[in-house]
Amino acid sequence: MAVWEEINWDDVYSEALDHFKDLIRMETVNPPGNEKPAAEYLAEMFRREGLEPEVIESAPERANVVCRLKGTGEKPPILLNGHLDVVPVEPDKWSVNPFQAVEKDGCLYGRGAVDMKNMVTMCAMCLVLMKRAGAALKRDLIFSGVADEEAGGKYGSQFMVDNHADKVKAEYSISEMGGFSMEMDGVRFYLVQVAEKGVCWLRIKTKGEPGHGSIPDRDSALIKAARIARTLGWKRLPQHNAEAVVRFVNMMSAHLKFPKSLVFKLLLKPSVSDILLDKVMPDKGVAQAFAAMLHNTANPTVIHAGGKTNVIPSEATLEVDGRLLPGFTSADFIKEVRALIGDEPEIEVIHELTPTEAPADDPIMEVMREVIGRRDPGAVVLPNLVTGFTDATHWKKLGMKCYGFSPLKLPADLSFKNMFHGHDERIPLDGFRFGLETLFEVVARMVL
Ligand SMILES: [Zn+2]
Repeated sequence: MAVWEEINWDDVYSEALDHFKDLIRMETVNPPGNEKPAAEYLAEMFRREGLEPEVIESAPERANVVCRLKGTGEKPPILLNGHLDVVPVEPDKWSVNPFQAVEKDGCLYGRGAVDMKNMVTMCAMCLVLMKRAGAALKRDLIFSGVADEEAGGKYGSQFMVDNHADKVKAEYSISEMGGFSMEMDGVRFYLVQVAEKGVCWLRIKTKGEPGHGSIPDRDSALIKAARIARTLGWKRLPQHNAEAVVRFVNMMSAHLKFPKSLVFKLLLKPSVSDILLDKVMPDKGVAQAFAAMLHNTANPTVIHAGGKTNVIPSEATLEVDGRLLPGFTSADFIKEVRALIGDEPEIEVIHELTPTEAPADDPIMEVMREVIGRRDPGAVVLPNLVTGFTDATHWKKLGMKCYGFSPLKLPADLSFKNMFHGHDERIPLDGFRFGLETLFEVVARMVL
């Protein structure tokens, strides 16, 4: 019998649910984070199983927890990673207390229910269950619960990579932003994150003649900055079809009905994709998401100019949230931006992260496909490019192949994306149980 068939999943599910609720009840809102109690809690959970976790502080009250289950070393390790921090809440917009872990209508409500204390719990349970099974592992299995992902990872994954690389280095990292289901034309798709965009935030400075507000100047610094904001806001940079996106679109359209099957495929043709995105696709949100997957993007988000109503300022600054597709550098990106806004404005890079990309045809994808196919017959696993960034941006510096696979079976009417960082963040309990069993089976097939 396979190891996952020997487990009493009713018992394991209720044990996991208790831990999940305990973790939600710890307020690890970032800022300030305060992840240490959650790290200690997980360490205690591992110690009870005879494992030897380490809690590593990165700042006062900020901590990471790692725990390794040793294998024979025949193959390199796998890292199961979750971040312990959550984003802030507006409690008055919630129907329940976001830190009470309330069960309602078949769901568990709470900040972190999908981002990502569910996955933290599932990963920790994988380690515990594998230890209890007592089987010989071909690879070390490492758990990491890290701080600070929601603020970029300085006290979490980045800190671990810079200071404790030997404790986390692995062939694969399995973490968030993939593995959830989405339905279209009656088909359930599971999106596995194989790539994420990089970051290139810009500060663009414009200059002009100062003057009196009573005499308008069409070339004032402020008007130039406004023109740049409008240009970047309205015009797209050139289209580039990343490998992960080509696979995603082709595999998905093969399972859709006409006309969606055709529309999605045509998105890969730069000559028609603008028209499809702007005029044909009925759902604006879906069109925006596809536009972001097909282009490097330069999104103006902050503008500073002037201080007095009757004075024309001589300088204006615009901050632009730039995101890069795999294969592109900040220099490539600035070239594309310059092609739209010209050479005059000063451009300064204020923050950058390189894009992340793992093979979409790696054997681990086959394992995920097999396991999902067995547990949810007829469902389709697709590789996906994520437009935001996660801890993978730091793990990849150690040469890890990073996959977002936090399996979650969702009802057709529940949108994962809308719940992320949203009010009334919640997870269907049967979807959580599905994830627990699915993740364990994938991990077991990779390490045994
Ligand atoms: Zn997250």
